[in-house]
Amino acid sequence: MGKPTGFTEYPRELPADRAPETRVRDWKEFHLHFPEEKLRQQGARCMDCGIPFCHTGALISGMASGCPIHNLIPEWNDLVYRGLWREALERLHKTNNFPEFTGRVCPAPCEGSCVLGMHTPPVTIKSLECAIVDRAFEEGWVTPAPPARRTGKQVAVVGSGPSGLACAAQLNQTGHRVTVYERADRIGGLLMYGIPNMKLDKATVQRRIDLMAAEGITFVTNTEVGKDIPASQLMKEFDAVVLCGGATKPNNLPIEGRELKGIHFAMEFLRANTKSLLDSGHQDGHYISTKDKHVIVIGGGDTGTDCVGTSMRHGCKSLTQFEILSRPPDDRQPDNPWPEWPKVYRLDYGQEEAKARFGDDPRQYLIMTKRFVGDERGQVRELHTVQVEWASGDNGRPFPKEVPGTEKVWPADLVFLAMGFRGPEDTVLEQLGVERDERSNARAEHGRFVTNVKGVFAAGDMRRGQSLVVWAINEGRGAARECDRYLMGSTNLP
Ligand SMILES: Cc1cc2nc3c(=O)[nH]c(=O)nc-3n(C[C@H](O)[C@H](O)[C@H](O)COP(=O)(O)OP(=O)(O)OC[C@H]3O[C@@H](n4cnc5c(N)ncnc54)[C@H](O)[C@@H]3O)c2cc1C
Ligand code: SF4
Repeated sequence: MGKPTGFTEYPRELPADRAPETRVRDWKEFHLHFPEEKLRQQGARCMDCGIPFCHTGALISGMASGCPIHNLIPEWNDLVYRGLWREALERLHKTNNFPEFTGRVCPAPCEGSCVLGMHTPPVTIKSLECAIVDRAFEEGWVTPAPPARRTGKQVAVVGSGPSGLACAAQLNQTGHRVTVYERADRIGGLLMYGIPNMKLDKATVQRRIDLMAAEGITFVTNTEVGKDIPASQLMKEFDAVVLCGGATKPNNLPIEGRELKGIHFAMEFLRANTKSLLDSGHQDGHYISTKDKHVIVIGGGDTGTDCVGTSMRHGCKSLTQFEILSRPPDDRQPDNPWPEWPKVYRLDYGQEEAKARFGDDPRQYLIMTKRFVGDERGQVRELHTVQVEWASGDNGRPFPKEVPGTEKVWPADLVFLAMGFRGPEDTVLEQLGVERDERSNARAEHGRFVTNVKGVFAAGDMRRGQSLVVWAINEGRGAARECDRYLMGSTNLP
């Protein structure tokens, strides 16, 4: 442990983000880095508590408490404090293939369970993680490391999101030949075409993909398994198949007026925006522009926030975000104690930007959309809503009960549905005969990742439902370990 008194000497500090008013004028990342001295002070705040809950990754009340990939956090906090950056990188890469992704987009359940956080603000774990790996790339310490020998076994990975990439990296490292199939024109899954550029620069994603290709992984784009290649062909050509296709079916809102023009699933909006940005800097016009439009985002989660941030950058006329749940409290409540993930009110980047421009957090809580109303050309013009309160149903399950007299009409030119995802697509799972669980995900026990079909594994959102990048990395690594055990009879992969 570096500095026993560090946490009594230095307050938690984070580098300032770029100002909301300026950052909405471009698509560059909004997080900035601290100078080295400040980073070392923040590392010194780790008190090496002895039982570091920050890296447990346990599920408590259905949410991750601590890091799901068990990052060796106290160790690299200490190494940062001592200025041993290269050693810190080595510790970081032991558990995390892609710290430059989690260091940018992870909600940091580690910080919610940091022991320091019981009485004072927790260690800035996520920002230190990002600083370690960004410095390593700057210094040229991250270089391709192909395996010393090949096993002669071949594995197909379907899907190139964080679970597929983590799985491919691990399998390749142990000597198997890996081919990753992706139906999109670029590799990365939601890292590339979900999370917007200002949160995770696509050059950062591509940099890691290039490294993996240099290490010997084959990437095949524009190829949908089940359509362009039958799934059975993969079974013939490869010794094992790992399914990492994500949970891409969006929840719909099938109410009156849903068929009107201007109502889109969030991913239609976000995917097209990033593709057009990367293809042509938005010059091709192949995206849905919110410029001078009244925009309503239905759904208060990460996807909704990304729709808000993207709309702000186009220059929308107004922006409102609907959330059916109530506003979270400002502080932890007694029924949400440490080390659980703190369910508290947060102003995420998109809402911060909307507030800076329009004066207030754009989120409306406890609100339900009743119908969409359009004009004579079939274009959406209004949303009709009602306030709700949460009541207990006959079966004891809570349900949103309408509050009489609270109906309201909102102007709307564009509506984005960001209400979560229903599970994976059917084609590949059906073609291979993979069993599904009650939520329609590929059935495969966490930790074993093997499906009912011999030699076929499943990981990431396709197995657990829409989740987090850090869980996808956990699952991709775990599926690689079990796949290696299947191929070789035993495994050294973690
Ligand atoms: C808009 C949005 C924002 C998010 N923001 C965050 C965030 O800030 N932080 C965070 O931790 N998590 C975030 N998430 C969640 C996170 O991105 C996912 O949990 C994670 O990407 C899941 O990884 P995956 O590899 O399982 O699947 P995905 O990333 O979904 O990748 C699956 C890939 O498989 C491909 N594919 C599917 N079927 C086939 C097929 N038959 N043949 C070939 N390819 C196929 C798809 O095209 C896709 O590229 C966000 C999700 C969304 C939608
Ligand atoms: S991956 Fe996420 S949970 Fe793990 S240390 Fe990094 S920020 Fe924390």
